[in-house]
Amino acid sequence: MMLRRHLCKVLCIGLTLLIVYNLLLVVYTKMTLQKLILGGVQKELHFPLSEWNETVIKKLSHLELELQHLQENMKLAMKQQENVDKTLKRMRDEQPVQKAVEAKASETKKHRPREKLFPDSPLFKQWGEDLSEAQQKRAQDLFQKFGYNVYLSNLLPLNRSIPDTRHSRCLQKTYSSQLPSLSVVLIFTNEALSIIQRAITSIINRTPSQLLKEIILVDDFSSNEELKANLDELIKLYNQKYPGLLKIVRHTKRQGLAQARNTGRETATAEVVAILDAHIEVNAGWAEPILARIQEDHTVIVSPVFDKINFDTFELEKYGLAVDGFNWELWCRYDSLPKAWIDLNDVTAPVKSPSIMGILAANRLFLGKIGSVDGGMLVYGGENVELSLRVWQCGGRIEVLPCSRIAHIERHHKPYALDLTPAMKRNALRVAEIWMDEYKYMVYLAWNIPLQKVYYHLTGELYVGSLIAEANAEDCCLTDPGSGENPTLEPCSKAAQHGLHIYWDFKPGRALINRATKRCLELKKASSYYMPVLRPCTTQVWTIQHTIGNWGSN
Ligand code: UDP
Ligand code: MN
Repeated sequence: MMLRRHLCKVLCIGLTLLIVYNLLLVVYTKMTLQKLILGGVQKELHFPLSEWNETVIKKLSHLELELQHLQENMKLAMKQQENVDKTLKRMRDEQPVQKAVEAKASETKKHRPREKLFPDSPLFKQWGEDLSEAQQKRAQDLFQKFGYNVYLSNLLPLNRSIPDTRHSRCLQKTYSSQLPSLSVVLIFTNEALSIIQRAITSIINRTPSQLLKEIILVDDFSSNEELKANLDELIKLYNQKYPGLLKIVRHTKRQGLAQARNTGRETATAEVVAILDAHIEVNAGWAEPILARIQEDHTVIVSPVFDKINFDTFELEKYGLAVDGFNWELWCRYDSLPKAWIDLNDVTAPVKSPSIMGILAANRLFLGKIGSVDGGMLVYGGENVELSLRVWQCGGRIEVLPCSRIAHIERHHKPYALDLTPAMKRNALRVAEIWMDEYKYMVYLAWNIPLQKVYYHLTGELYVGSLIAEANAEDCCLTDPGSGENPTLEPCSKAAQHGLHIYWDFKPGRALINRATKRCLELKKASSYYMPVLRPCTTQVWTIQHTIGNWGSN
């Protein structure tokens, strides 16, 4: 359209100029002829009449030629315009077709979304709608390998921003300008490179540079290729920008996360050491509360507050403040805030905590002095409780700092072990044996390891466990469910209320017989252990190790 208008304009101006020129020439010729006729012309003419005629004729023929050119040009222009029109018309005609094709495609997309290749995969529950088949395959492969969405991680900026989850009162806190220096340790085995890089980036961007002495990577014998030469190259690049900031230590065999944490502490040189998982992003202002609190009291082992990064969408979910506790399996859990802290009415105040979750910060020398983390804890689990018992029994204390927040990916599965139970059980028993004296039996019981640590009450109940369980826990009574060979444990009050078979006849050195069902509790050999079963009595007998007199009187 623009071209057409432009062409018309040029032609009009050209024609107008020629007509004006022609008219002027005609008027000029007419006037001159009149003057000639009137005879006063000679004086006014600078050239003889014959010459003048020649000039006029030349000019007229020139004009004729130009008009011819103009006509031809116009014809040509008209033809070109015709072509332009035709093209435009074709485009206009084709547009609805194109639109229809597009509409059809989007309609198809709307009504028939791309086929889900892995409909049961947790990765695709709320993510990955628009991925092609090849992309779905790639994302699923990475997910299985790492337990989180590496496909997405590789697309997200390393310096992405995350919501500041601190309480607004934390923002009003001020800290000394003379805080201790900080070494940050990131431990990993086979984590995705982009995940580690994002952790490093968050630490660099969200820790005051004058306080951050170094970032130490501890590679617990990863096999991933990208964590070898590529990571070394990256470290070089980081160090070009931030001289001496990054260090890497590599285990030459898999030693488990407890020993990886120890290696990190041993390599660190700053006054305070923060030992973190590699799949984290530290949040704004995370370091200052830690450094200030440890400066105030070097025996405090600190835990930040975690927020959850979803393993599939990488969105951040804010977690409420809680203390880090554990159950009799020595497995961590969140417990409610102590009344003493609530009474302080200061949401920024440190919270006394029984345990840590894993991630911790401490005065480097104090942590070393109390023996650091038990390097004999294998693979995973229990090491946090071990450290906690050590801290509380060796003159330290543990606190959660509400104003220090770290976002942590809760993965869907652990890539380094299919079944963590054997390691967790083994580690828990190690902790129990080392630190828990007679309470260790509770840990054995929790892991369902037969002790026959059982109390037979003269009224006939068999209490299982030491009757000193967690707060609010109820004593359990051994019960014959009436069918099947497995006895069950039922809360005693409930069992009594519902008339379950909880009463047993027993004399030391005799069989143990359920009063209602007349079945015997006996031990049956399984593959590598014995298990308690209920069955018609054979010849098994039981003894009593200890007798407690005056039960309940004190
Ligand atoms: N890790 C390690 N060696 C191991 C197992 C784990 O270095 O044998 C690292 C792992 O890469 C992670 C940290 O230890 O950075 C904590 O492990 P994970 O995140 O699986 O534990 P969770 O956070 O689920 O308790
Ligand atoms: Mn973790």
